[in-house]
Amino acid sequence: WANSPVDPLNIVAVDCAGPRRSRMPGRDDDTYDHDGQITKSTIRAITVAALEPAGPQLLWDIGSGSGSVAIEWLRADNRGRAVAFEQNADRAERLTTNARRHGVGHRLSLRGAAPEALSDAPPPDAVFIGGGLDEKVLTAAWNALRPSGRIVVNAVTVENQEILVRWHAERGGTLRRLSVETVAPLGTMTTWRPALPIVQWAATR
Ligand code: SAH
Repeated sequence: WANSPVDPLNIVAVDCAGPRRSRMPGRDDDTYDHDGQITKSTIRAITVAALEPAGPQLLWDIGSGSGSVAIEWLRADNRGRAVAFEQNADRAERLTTNARRHGVGHRLSLRGAAPEALSDAPPPDAVFIGGGLDEKVLTAAWNALRPSGRIVVNAVTVENQEILVRWHAERGGTLRRLSVETVAPLGTMTTWRPALPIVQWAATR
């Protein structure tokens, strides 16, 4: 600090954009325009951290929805890029707007439904599957993933969780179940409202 050409206290005074400008993942859900199909903020924070954004890496965000995971990946490191795969036209339009609003539109490319659209996208350094999971999509994503690349998959249904249990047994990595409860009104009182638990498989290829 003593040898610093600028006064660190002065930086704080100049750059006071506030919490909405944070580059940490896990921003409030309402930061994004969405229709309810969104990876909720706590789970998203854990998901983006598990993807390990670092440097000029390419993410495939499969079942991109509002684009919140891709956007937080892109904001975590401004050298990163992402391809968002989304089959629903309304959501595809919304995610494009969200990306632009968060200043990362120029680093995000939009594609259609998996697995078809996966085949002509450039190979990823990291893959997140938050929608459209099946054996075919997972196999295509795994095969496209660069060596040492990260894959993170979230599943809410027993059928999809079963796929993850099997892939974890065969390929290792981390398998965990995440539960979050948020305070909500109950009549005139207040209670803890649990979200559906998420099973998450994360692995390095
Ligand atoms: N991670 C997203 C939420 C995903 S919800 C977010 O944070 O906003 C799951 C999404 O997957 C939905 O938008 C759905 O339209 C999309 N989806 C389902 N199957 C798909 C497929 N085969 N290819 C592309 N998108 C798919």
